[in-house]
Parts: sequence; structure tokens; C-alpha cells
Amino acid sequence: MKKDRSLLNALHDEGYRLTPQRMMVVEAIEESHDHISAEEIHTKARTKYPYLNISTVYRTLELLKEKGLVAETDLGGGRFLYHPVGKAQHHHLVCRKCGKVRDIEINLLDKLKDELKDKYDFDAELEHIAIFGSCKDCGSQS
Ligand SMILES: [Zn+2]
Ligand SMILES: [Zn+2]
Repeated sequence: MKKDRSLLNALHDEGYRLTPQRMMVVEAIEESHDHISAEEIHTKARTKYPYLNISTVYRTLELLKEKGLVAETDLGGGRFLYHPVGKAQHHHLVCRKCGKVRDIEINLLDKLKDELKDKYDFDAELEHIAIFGSCKDCGSQS
């Protein structure tokens, strides 16, 4: 899949109807420069479409995920963040204590990926993952 295609075009090409609700959700994701949660998408989209239901947001996110158009990051504790796959060129450090999220370079895990392939013949999908721990402010666990 080409990454520079807009999410809406991609959905449309797949034969999905571009309902106003879907368009609002997709726009909110594309306009956010950072990661966005379902709640934030809902809040944002409702400024233009007041009757938008949060379950529509979840359903649309499911669809986009299924189609490989958005990346989902599980930050633990039921928190999920989203962004278009084209923007997923990083991983995350998530502090368990304060919940702070930091982006790290994608190639930091290349070595791990190679080793998993060499030693276990396993193709790891290390595209956009969250690594949990404690940040500097919260002190190390050890
Ligand atoms: Zn991310
Ligand atoms: Zn912290």
C-alpha cells in the first residue's frame, strides 16, 4: 500500500461509502500532527458534526485499522492512540507512572528484528510499538 495516499481515497477505493461521520473521523486523524485518541477524535469531529456518536468513532477506527490505514498504539490501561500508518515511523517509550509518551527512532529496533530473524527465523512486526518503563522524572525501577 502506498503511504502517501490519503485515508479517504484509500477507503473510497476499497468501495466504502464516505459518510459524513467517517469523513469527520478520518479528517481528525489526518489533521492531528501527533497521536490522537478516540476521545480526542470524537471531541474534534463534534465541533463540525455535533451528533457524532463515540461508537461511530470506534467503528470507523476498527475499519481503518482492519484496512491497515491507521496504526494503533496500546499505551496500557485501556489507552489507545492512533495515527495514519504513513506517520508510524517511530516507536514509543511509555512511562508507567506518569503516562508520558515519547517517540523514538524506528531503526533502534532493527538489530532486534534481525536477531529474531536469525535466531528464531521469526519475522517480527516491529513497526510501531510501545515500550513500557519509567521516565527520567519518575526515576528508574531498579
Ligand atoms: Zn506512534
Ligand atoms: Zn514518568
